[in-house]
Amino acid sequence: MPINRERFLSDFLELVRIPSPSGKEREVAQAVKAKVEAMGLTVSEDEAGKGFGGEQGNLIVKVTGNLEGVPPILLNAHLDTVLPCENVNPIVEGDKVRSDGRTILGADNKAGVCVLLEFLRVIKEDGIQHGPLEIVFTVAEETGLHGAKHLDYSLISAKVGFVLDSGPPINKVIVRAPSQKNLRAVVKGKSAHAGVSPEKGINAIQLAARAIASMRLGRIDQETTANIGIIRGGLATNIVPEEVEILGEARSHNPKKLEEQIAHMVSLLEKEAQRGGGKAEVEVTDVYRSFSVTEDDLPSKVLKAALAKMGLKPQWETTGGGSDANIFNEHGIKCVLICCGEESPHSPENERLDIPSALQSVELLVNIVTAFAQMDEVK
Ligand SMILES: [Zn+2]
Repeated sequence: MPINRERFLSDFLELVRIPSPSGKEREVAQAVKAKVEAMGLTVSEDEAGKGFGGEQGNLIVKVTGNLEGVPPILLNAHLDTVLPCENVNPIVEGDKVRSDGRTILGADNKAGVCVLLEFLRVIKEDGIQHGPLEIVFTVAEETGLHGAKHLDYSLISAKVGFVLDSGPPINKVIVRAPSQKNLRAVVKGKSAHAGVSPEKGINAIQLAARAIASMRLGRIDQETTANIGIIRGGLATNIVPEEVEILGEARSHNPKKLEEQIAHMVSLLEKEAQRGGGKAEVEVTDVYRSFSVTEDDLPSKVLKAALAKMGLKPQWETTGGGSDANIFNEHGIKCVLICCGEESPHSPENERLDIPSALQSVELLVNIVTAFAQMDEVK
């Protein structure tokens, strides 16, 4: 297989130097588009950016394939990164790439983007027999899966997909992810001069503190977590605070437990605010829904066959985080997350690209499209 380490690495070093915070992916999208077009493929862009106020839509590359009667497969990586991502200075050390520690590296998810680019070149050069492919480079994954949520699904017909947004080892496959709901509460009391007439005031910070102090937070059980992440309010030490804002979240693999946890958080905020003579206005929003892909589902069967060609067996895993895979699954595309070589994402000090894993990921993709085309049940 003509997987080219130098070519892959030069793509990667070029793309991580282009800042692409969520919603500002224009420049990196142009670079990716040029690379795909240089392979003789056509790139289209949807209107996703307009849907959430970003400057760039998702890029969609359709590869016809050279086999008849094989259904399409969706392959995905996201173009955006978390902050800080200005002036990334990638340093190659043996088989690893890191940043200089001042910024993130952006292997999450430019490793996935570059794996897809190298894969597209390899299947062409090697004349790999495969069916149609729908390659989707999404935007604004990190700030709320906006690209996947606003993807123009009329352009997609795949019912099975692989999302390249996970770390080594290469045989690790993420088949389960939780649902998440966010909570925003404004607890209202009454302002008063803290020294002259404190009895006229109702301290919103204290109301909120009572509620939070008695809240079940952290790891609730094996499937459920909850957090209050931000609290802000108050104007001065001599003013009884009138208002405090609280932001939190809960996640669970079990929808009923998620409902219960959120209800618990909301009711405590309302109860404690009321008990102290104030009130709480609470908003709950759905961020994404859980998914669970079983060993009998098509993506798992394909991966089993694809990994077997490398002498490996899949290691099925559960994640506590959400990704574009949650949204694709909601839209009826059975998706799992696979390794693209990214390690310790979102950490300026620890994020790495593991080059051998990324190159194995290219090989795995080739095996996936080959195995998929040979499966009896897809024909
Ligand atoms: Zn990611």
